[in-house]
Amino acid sequence: MKDRKYKFTWDLIGDLELGRPNLGPYARLEVYRLMQFSFRDILEKNYGTEKADALFYESGKLAGEEMFKKFFSELTNFNEYVKVLQTALREMGVGILKVEEADLEVGRFVLTVSEDLDCSGLPELDYEICAYDEGFIAGLMESFTGIKFKVKEVDCWCTGDRTCRFLAEAVKD
Ligand SMILES: [Zn+2]
Repeated sequence: MKDRKYKFTWDLIGDLELGRPNLGPYARLEVYRLMQFSFRDILEKNYGTEKADALFYESGKLAGEEMFKKFFSELTNFNEYVKVLQTALREMGVGILKVEEADLEVGRFVLTVSEDLDCSGLPELDYEICAYDEGFIAGLMESFTGIKFKVKEVDCWCTGDRTCRFLAEAVKD
C-alpha cells in the first residue's frame, strides 16, 4: 500500500499543554460518545452491522497495542501489569478494571470493566455493545503475552449488568 494519510502515531494526539492552555486535557463524556456513536452509525450505514463491529474491534485493538507500546512495554510480570493497567485506566477515566479469572497457562481470562467509558449508563439493549473495548483488551493482552487473543464481551451495562465482563481466550492455531 502506498503511504497512508492516517496511519496512527502518538504525534497525532498533539501537545495538549501547548494546544489547550485553558481547557486542559479533558472533554465531556457526551462528546466522546457522540463521536463513537456517529462513527458507528455511518460505518454501519456504509458497510453493514457486522463490518462496523469488526472495524470497531480492529480500531480498539490498534489502540490497545499502541497504548501498550507507549506505557507498558517494560513490564514483564503479569500481576504488576494488571496493577499498572488498573491505575492507568482509572486515571484516564476509561473504567475500573478487575480480573475475575486468570489462567496464564491455558490463556483464558475473565475481566470486568465498571463505569466503562463506552457504555456505562446507556439504555438497556438486547446486545453487548463494547466492540471497541473487546479489541482494546485483545490488543493489550496480545502485546503482553505475544499470543493471539479473541475477546468477547459476555455481559454489558446494555444487557442489564452493571459492569462489562469480557472473556479473553488465546487463539490456538
Ligand atoms: Zn459494555
